[in-house]
Amino acid sequence: MLPTFANPLESLDPRQAAPSTAEGQAAYRLAEGDARWVEALVDCPGAQELYTYQLPPGMAIVPGDILSVPFGGRQLGAIAIRLVAELPASLNTAAIRPVEEVVCRSFFPAGYWDLLQRVAQYYCTPLMQVVRTALPPGLLGRSQRRIRLNRAALPDAPKGFHPAAQQLLDKLQSQKSGDYTWQFLQRQVKGARAGLQELLARGWVESYLEPPAPVRPKLRQAVTLVQPDGADLSPRQREVVEVLKRSGGELWLQDLLQRCQVSSSVVKGLAQKGWVEIQPREVLRAEAGGFGGGVGAEVSAEIGAGPAELTPDQAKALAALTTLQQFQPVLLHGVTGSGKTEVYARAIAPVLARGQSALVLVPEIGLTPQLTDRFRARFGEAVRVYHSALSDGERYDTWRQMLSGDPQIVIGTRSAVFAPLPHLGLIVLDEEHDSTFKQDQPAPCYHARTVAYWRAQQANCPLILGSATPALDTWAARASVPSPAALLTLSLPQRIHARPMPPIEVVDMRRELQQGNRSIFSRSLQAALMELRSQRRQGILFIHRRGHSTFVSCRSCGHVMTCPHCDISLTYHQAQAEGYESLRCHYCGYGQTHPNRCPACESPYLKHFGSGSQRVVQELALELPDLRCLRFDSDTTRAKGSHRALLTRFAQGEADLLVGTQMLTKGIDLPQVTLVGVVAADGLLHLADYRASERAFQMLLQVAGRAGRGREPGRVIVQTYSPEHPVIQAVQEQQYEPFAEQELAHRQSLGYPPYRSLVLLRLSGLDNAAVKHTADLLAVQICQQLPQIDLLGPAPAAIARVDNRYRWQILLKADTFSDAEREMFKALRSHVPTSVSLTIDVDPLNLM
Ligand code: ADP
Ligand code: ZN
Ligand code: ZN
Repeated sequence: MLPTFANPLESLDPRQAAPSTAEGQAAYRLAEGDARWVEALVDCPGAQELYTYQLPPGMAIVPGDILSVPFGGRQLGAIAIRLVAELPASLNTAAIRPVEEVVCRSFFPAGYWDLLQRVAQYYCTPLMQVVRTALPPGLLGRSQRRIRLNRAALPDAPKGFHPAAQQLLDKLQSQKSGDYTWQFLQRQVKGARAGLQELLARGWVESYLEPPAPVRPKLRQAVTLVQPDGADLSPRQREVVEVLKRSGGELWLQDLLQRCQVSSSVVKGLAQKGWVEIQPREVLRAEAGGFGGGVGAEVSAEIGAGPAELTPDQAKALAALTTLQQFQPVLLHGVTGSGKTEVYARAIAPVLARGQSALVLVPEIGLTPQLTDRFRARFGEAVRVYHSALSDGERYDTWRQMLSGDPQIVIGTRSAVFAPLPHLGLIVLDEEHDSTFKQDQPAPCYHARTVAYWRAQQANCPLILGSATPALDTWAARASVPSPAALLTLSLPQRIHARPMPPIEVVDMRRELQQGNRSIFSRSLQAALMELRSQRRQGILFIHRRGHSTFVSCRSCGHVMTCPHCDISLTYHQAQAEGYESLRCHYCGYGQTHPNRCPACESPYLKHFGSGSQRVVQELALELPDLRCLRFDSDTTRAKGSHRALLTRFAQGEADLLVGTQMLTKGIDLPQVTLVGVVAADGLLHLADYRASERAFQMLLQVAGRAGRGREPGRVIVQTYSPEHPVIQAVQEQQYEPFAEQELAHRQSLGYPPYRSLVLLRLSGLDNAAVKHTADLLAVQICQQLPQIDLLGPAPAAIARVDNRYRWQILLKADTFSDAEREMFKALRSHVPTSVSLTIDVDPLNLM
């Protein structure tokens, strides 16, 4: 039988989607009555207010429906918020336009609006932007303005008078189709509007609207047998009927035609005679048959129903968790390899049994295939993954399955915190300290942990924050006295089977140099690497940067090769193929070939400084030619599923050593890994950011935690030029608590989070003076209206220019920010010209 899914246009009981507020309920009741108007949130930038549309006769709408509406000269996506029976007499109802169509029914579970509204408010972001973050992309179809060259009207060598006109022409001509979105051109060319006017006046370009293409359910033709027997069938028709019978009476038309090798006219003939029915049926695009190509169990040998017995610590934690059935934030503080995943899984089982769903958030899906596998092995079909690497269609379909209310487990990354699960019984944030849970760009700059907290509150269910190295914010929130809803701490202080934590050896690289070792590997690390092969064990080598060298400079004049579009040095990547650009900007993607001579002084002596993962692999090949290495960083894992493929190759013993960047720190659980090396810890230590120590400590302890998870004990070697640095000392001792207490005291004395709150206003634009001017203006506004807030800046960002855009920022500090203050920040947008963009980053993690 073919799977049956409800018609999406009738999929939900509208009552489920009705807003939870009294006002919303009242509006909903109208849906059954005689509403003639609908107020909708329209998908245009910054839309705050609701717009009214007419309900065409016969069109039933309930709040939460996704609509297509006319807006100015365009057609935009919109969300029905309220139904209205009567409009104020003052309104000219004749001018109100009708809703074009209903694109999708009821896309939200109860209470969902309240959540989105809370996010919009706390993060000072227009509601529509929050909606766009939460919803699967492409749902709110919108027409886009595009500009294309009118080649027929173009002279041989067109010259624009206006400088912007010339730049626009150049951009358009550089593209084969001669066609770009207006939004893109505006971002790329200063004064684009004036330039466009000139080009339009000359008839050299034309402007047009690209119609919206919202994601819709995917339909396929299904053939159902209606009457199994009968006379007067042609032999071909008889064969079709037989095949259908053998397949349980139903097949996709495509499959049927292929199996019977007949044309569709044969089947249509059968339909005409009433033997079969051909109907469109929805197919779900959600990732078919397992995750990422189904190279599953190879990664870990221990997948299956899970260990039969919990350790006493796990049992204690689980017992505490299973008593919780209302809102309760919990910190599960378990050292690396203490078996946190097993505790999550066992805490989830009763949630499903109660008919509720669970949400599991992880930093990066590709890096935690084992977690997904373990859950799949145990819970099978009830596990769904939801993350941004899915196609729009897959996300759309998964969204609908989540909405269905069936008990399920959704595993996803940051944005999955918005998964529309109607009956949420538990939320887990694994590796809760990870900064990928915070969105930097675009707004809303939300933290999934914060939103998860609100969701758990709303659903009245527990929230488990798991980590070996909790975020200091989380640690500081532990209650000294237990009280309802205060953060409860459960600990797993030991590894499974009391396996020892790997000892951490710190090597002073200055001494190595003094003693004549010029290699980037200390003698101790070299010896340990050499042993890997002979002892048939595996190792992990962590390096802070990808690429070959972190920068290239001239030995004669000191000139540093920098990106022409950003204020940052270029990274050298060694050529892998002809035409490969070997100097690359890690911020904007700019690339160029490596010059033979210094562009400033023509000197041929260019030197490469700093080592990236690529260089480390090369050095290894020179110094330890027998060692088989695999490189694991964002250069080698671009393609979908490649994380997993690489990890699988490593797990199968294809290499002795996995060399990579911070990806290695996340959740890899391979029992055969006994050695972890950190090539140079220094890159992590000296960043000008109040969180640098916290991040370095977490990263080093996490990567160290990859060693010795199996029966063989592990060993960690950390190389550094500053062994006396407090972070290095704390890492060596592997004690989270003293480090956390000391660092928190430091934060408190400096007035940094979690003791005070921050809001960062980021401004950027093509014209430095305009950006600075706007920043000054905003600073004055804030100082005048909110003198109680501490304001730092405006100052250029640490990287003052990225992708040709100049960046300025203003840092605001207060004990807490009130709702009124947040409203005021939101209102600052009215002072920002279109040529400058403003991002309000509430609780910023990254101040650079
Ligand atoms: P963590 O997330 O705390 O670093 P994991 O959840 O990845 O640790 O568990 C580490 C390893 O221990 C995994 O391979 C897991 O299968 C195994 N494990 C977990 N609990 C038990 C148990 N009770 N008995 C035996 N092995 C276990
Ligand atoms: Zn030079
Ligand atoms: Zn750049």
